[in-house]
Amino acid sequence: TMGEFPWPTVFARTLQEIYLSIDIGIMSIVILKDLSKKYADVTAVSDFNLTVENKEFVVLVGPSGCGKTTTLRMIAGLEDITSGTVEINGKVINNVHPKDRDIAMVFQNYALYPHMNVYKNISFGLRARKFSKSDIEYHTLKAAEILDLTDLLERKPGELSGGQKQRVAMGRAIVREPKLFLFDEPLSNLDAKLRHKMRTEIKKLQQTVQTTSIYVTHDQIEAMTLADRIVIMRNGLIEQVGTPFEVYHQPENSFVAGFIGSPAMNFLECKLNGTPDGFNCTLKDGSSILLQNIELETELYEGQKSVLGIRPEYLIHGSADSEQSISLTAQLEVVEPLGAETLLLCKGEYGEITGKTDHGKGLKWGNTIQFHVDPLKIHIFDEASGKRISKSFE
Ligand code: ATP
Repeated sequence: TMGEFPWPTVFARTLQEIYLSIDIGIMSIVILKDLSKKYADVTAVSDFNLTVENKEFVVLVGPSGCGKTTTLRMIAGLEDITSGTVEINGKVINNVHPKDRDIAMVFQNYALYPHMNVYKNISFGLRARKFSKSDIEYHTLKAAEILDLTDLLERKPGELSGGQKQRVAMGRAIVREPKLFLFDEPLSNLDAKLRHKMRTEIKKLQQTVQTTSIYVTHDQIEAMTLADRIVIMRNGLIEQVGTPFEVYHQPENSFVAGFIGSPAMNFLECKLNGTPDGFNCTLKDGSSILLQNIELETELYEGQKSVLGIRPEYLIHGSADSEQSISLTAQLEVVEPLGAETLLLCKGEYGEITGKTDHGKGLKWGNTIQFHVDPLKIHIFDEASGKRISKSFE
């Protein structure tokens, strides 16, 4: 009869099905306020302020020791907070036990249980929390499907490749449907090819699962390809927060400009003087170039010590292609053919520069070659503070 049919269960499951098919993510906004961490004599993180929006994927990037991992561990509750607060959905969680924070963390060492098969590894947390058998099965199979592990459920970790193991580790995190994912360099143990593949997998996963995520890496390419927004850190401080486009095209200072982009931006020291025709830059070798149509963010003083920043892709081999473009002559030291283009590593009296060409044919070590650059593609930084003083061109 009607009475015996489990309508409430079916109804709940259908709702859940619809919910899962639309979005298995859970709404969560993370606010970090004046977060600091001091060890005895080391300040690992200072006054870290950041709001991570619902469903946003934020990547913390910076050189070794800049405080990325410490920040992540404070959010997870694995590290005491010296001062400041971690807030999820308006609730300060500083004193909430890590296991009650509803956060899933994926580490670099995926630490799977070697004696358990993939199914058991993925469902471990659910079993520990005493979910019903059918719920465990439902969530585990769903995660396996998302991660393309359905055919591997019976295998033990020893029978998996590095990338498959990493996927199992992620499966273990996503079955919990946490409020927040934290990733601590999850790909750094993989070889280059697999890292690239897994990067794509994580991006796809994020698009499916849509859970607010914070990801730590020292690899700026990983940061650029994965992030909605990137936080660039140095010495425990935030240097810039922005979209990949912003940190690449509108770096706020020479540190960010030099950290993001590969090969790195060229930097040429100079002294700047305003003239009626534009800004006259005197390079280290005494030669000078005139930058026209450039706008500055700040007032300039005569002879201000500055740094010109030119990305290698804008430093193009060959003579000037327009009246405005600027020429630089240099000695070719190394030719690096990359297939689609060739990098030219050079030395001039004014410093070292890397430029590019579409066809490096016939170019040899020792050649004197010419580059040209559109002055509107040059960033100008104040040497003392490192701050960008030119208006950004994008
Ligand atoms: P990496 O990319 O090398 O992992 P990171 O940016 O994650 O670096 P953290 O691990 O957060 O850096 O470390 C930040 C700073 O805090 C470093 O100077 C580090 O030496 C210091 N530090 C970390 N843990 C401790 C500790 N337990 N005691 C003292 N200093 C520590």
